[in-house]
Amino acid sequence: MSAFGYRDGVLCAESVPLPEIAERHGTPCYVYSRAALLERFGAFRGALAGRDALVCYAVKANSNLAILNLFAREGAGFDIVSGGELARVIAAGGDPAKVVFSGVGKTAAEMRQALSAGISCFNVESAAELERLDEVAGSLGLRAPVALRVNPNVDPKTHPYISTGLRSNKFGVACEDALPLYLRARALRHVEIAGIACHIGSQLLDPAPAAEAADKILSLADRLAAEGIALRHLDLGGGLGIRYHDETPPTVKEYFAPLLARLAGRGEKLLVEPGRALVGNSGVLLTRIEYLKHGAEKNFAIVDAAMNDLIRPALYDAWHDILPVRSRQIDAPLYEVVGPVCESGDFLGHGRRLGVEAGDLLAVMSAGAYGMAQSSNYNSRPRAAEVVVDGEQSFVVREREQVEQLFAGEHVLP
Ligand SMILES: *Cc1c(COP(=O)(O)O)cnc(C)c1O
Repeated sequence: MSAFGYRDGVLCAESVPLPEIAERHGTPCYVYSRAALLERFGAFRGALAGRDALVCYAVKANSNLAILNLFAREGAGFDIVSGGELARVIAAGGDPAKVVFSGVGKTAAEMRQALSAGISCFNVESAAELERLDEVAGSLGLRAPVALRVNPNVDPKTHPYISTGLRSNKFGVACEDALPLYLRARALRHVEIAGIACHIGSQLLDPAPAAEAADKILSLADRLAAEGIALRHLDLGGGLGIRYHDETPPTVKEYFAPLLARLAGRGEKLLVEPGRALVGNSGVLLTRIEYLKHGAEKNFAIVDAAMNDLIRPALYDAWHDILPVRSRQIDAPLYEVVGPVCESGDFLGHGRRLGVEAGDLLAVMSAGAYGMAQSSNYNSRPRAAEVVVDGEQSFVVREREQVEQLFAGEHVLP
């Protein structure tokens, strides 16, 4: 299902023409589809039906309260990587008892915050973190539920910046260190062993590496059982990829089939942590062409969105389809689609064939994940508004930032 399509030559989000959104809310503007978000969540729930399972949305992909609230109402859990994300989940009505906390650098303050909120599990990524967690939990008179994030050393065959399960990555503990660390955890008074976790990377297009990782996790779980350590849950992470351009990712069902086959007959609860696959294709970045600039070597479409709004092209050389919101029957030369930021890396797309005029709107597709979430105020650019479309209605879920907000906390010297 695509929530974004042309009607009478005009690109719409569900039933709302995108020019209407630009008119009402301005540009640049992130536009999400409620139906698409729910459809994606339903696909995960459906694929895991019949199993004791919890879909923990990876908040970092898009942490807008409206999106968190939508998933919370569907019964989602959440995978967080900071105290800030925990505060967002709670503010959005999420259940802290369904939160898992990942990340290599949890501070003592974040541990206290998460323990007091009663989260479901800390995905511990080092021996030092385990010791600190025991100490912090002890100071609160609590026991911290833990899973060790194990690094299965498989190559997810994705972009190196988003590959996390190799021995050379900073994430998790090596397979061979896991057993001694579990034994240490068992001996600690203020931690309680809850499960085991892994996450090998993002934008995975092949289910095989995830299945290979699951094999290693399951054999570890069996070795732990032999030591008398019973796990309540297995957390197999996120990472399922989406189609940006010409990729053919597996469906949610296809992705989980080999994993579920391996889990048949096992009693542990299954946790998964999808981010991109839930929100990536549920949103677009709507932008307006300020100028067209025709040169001897290249043509530029200079738009009002930039790398500070969507950094994926600059950071990962990522491809996003860029569609004209109104299709025109005019010449379509190749354009560099660039923003106004003073960096040569400030581009949204290279060499795109577009039949457009200055003032036209463009939709940067597949922008729902790691778009707004990675935005910044570089060049003192206020962050874009965010809008959710529901049928024929649209709702502002984050107001466009005002310039004064950008320096409200700054002070000149006396
Ligand atoms: C980023 C991350 C996810 C989500 O990854 P996606 O590729 O967006 O599905 C899940 N778990 C952990 C631990 C992560 O760091």
